Amino acid sequence: MNPFISKTKIVATLGPASFSPAVQRRLMAAGVDGFRLNLSHGDFEEHAGVIVSLRKISAEMGRPVAIIVDLPGPKMRLGKVPKPITVRRGAKVRFVPEGIARPGPGIFLPHEISGLAQGLRSGSIIFVGDGMMQFKVKSIQGEIVETEALVAGVVRSNKGVNIPGYNAPAGILTEEDKRGIAFAIKHKADVICISFVGGPQDMLAARALLPKTGKYRPCLLAKIERRQAVTHLDGILAVSDAVMVARGDLGIELPIEEIPGLQKDIIHRANMAAKPVIVATQMLLSMVDNARPTRAEVTDVANAILDGADAIMFSEETAIGHDPAAVVRIAKKIAHQTERRLVKSGGVALEVRAAIRSEDSIDDLISSATCDILENRTIDLALTPTASGTTARRIARMRPRPWIVAVTENQTVRNILAISYGVFPIGVPSVDLSDLDLADLLRGAGLIRSGTRRLVITSGTQCGVAGTTNSLKIIDVS
Ligand code: ATP
Ligand code: MG
Ligand code: MG
Repeated sequence: MNPFISKTKIVATLGPASFSPAVQRRLMAAGVDGFRLNLSHGDFEEHAGVIVSLRKISAEMGRPVAIIVDLPGPKMRLGKVPKPITVRRGAKVRFVPEGIARPGPGIFLPHEISGLAQGLRSGSIIFVGDGMMQFKVKSIQGEIVETEALVAGVVRSNKGVNIPGYNAPAGILTEEDKRGIAFAIKHKADVICISFVGGPQDMLAARALLPKTGKYRPCLLAKIERRQAVTHLDGILAVSDAVMVARGDLGIELPIEEIPGLQKDIIHRANMAAKPVIVATQMLLSMVDNARPTRAEVTDVANAILDGADAIMFSEETAIGHDPAAVVRIAKKIAHQTERRLVKSGGVALEVRAAIRSEDSIDDLISSATCDILENRTIDLALTPTASGTTARRIARMRPRPWIVAVTENQTVRNILAISYGVFPIGVPSVDLSDLDLADLLRGAGLIRSGTRRLVITSGTQCGVAGTTNSLKIIDVS
């Protein structure tokens, strides 16, 4: 497999369509860089089994991947439905609290939302599954909410529920989330996603539950999916390690037409902060059933890359779609083509480069100087020995033409770097290596090929210590 398929990274959500090791292997071979487990669905035992299987396949294939655990957050959801329910437009559908006996024939959707009936009025609209389904409230009888389906569709277990104007309780880290964080730590998940973040305090509350000593430091990702998160984005970025443009809930919590502009703003600010940014939801959604995506979807994936996304994420496409690996292969093709354009024009990275150049921290000086040198056609790779991954990310945000090979001793850092644009992470027992050793390492990994001429290597005063990178050199390997 060509290790350099595309610089844009792909995150795939796992679900019933991708729980088998055979499908996971196909996904990795197709180029998935991060696997997302959504704790809103399935149970801990199922997710633990998936993690073991992914780590095994990743080691066998010699392909670092990030394991991403996504916490449910205070999201309102339906309960369990034994099998998918097909709803026709105009159908009468009743929402009932889970566990209550079904009060007669007809379609009943169980939910886990306390006080739902009290919070609704006749005429309220209930959105289900990222708003794909809509129900208009007709009447409320005790705990039973009678509605009419405004669109046809299929309802599955645990689908998210949104009701405009209906406020979820404050304080986003639920008891379920705390159990989820403990689960993620136990299984050394590389990335932990916090849902419905409202401000920096939510990220700090989550961080307080993470280990403070030792080598295992997971990446804490803020899902940007509500108005407050957009308002407090810079504060959130300052205390987060990554962000996600979580367009599913964002498109319901905010007017949907604001999404394209918000996506650009969030990505740009994440790029400036040198934090990985993932764009999620409905990227190639029609591929759940179809062999080919729509033109609009292909354009959406390309535009996310041109906006500066590090990674694009699939949800239904790989969790319940008919051919998860095909989705990834198409995404890689779109990415490959789009990146050629990015190399030619510089795209939004030009703005980032210009802004970084006006900064005067040593980190910024080093990353922009590296990027300048990488413009030269005789330089084929950048090599960054790194303790925390920061040096690699600081260079990557400027979207240089060559790949950035990040060499690190820390397994979690290596896996987290798998979701950064243009970064090729390698794990080593020690980064205290001579230039010749480093070049040999790259050769062994198949990264120095015939025609490779020169490398740029960044280094610091203290090997393996984060934040000490202060020099660059160019070595000839031809
Ligand atoms: P979120 O708001 O966190 O994105 P979601 O309900 O939209 O929640 P996704 O992770 O986006 O969930 O996945 C899309 C759909 O794929 C889910 O609604 C669910 O039907 C299915 N799915 C995802 N993960 C699983 C799983 N582990 N088990 C069963 N179904 C799953
Ligand atoms: Mg979703
Ligand atoms: Mg969501």
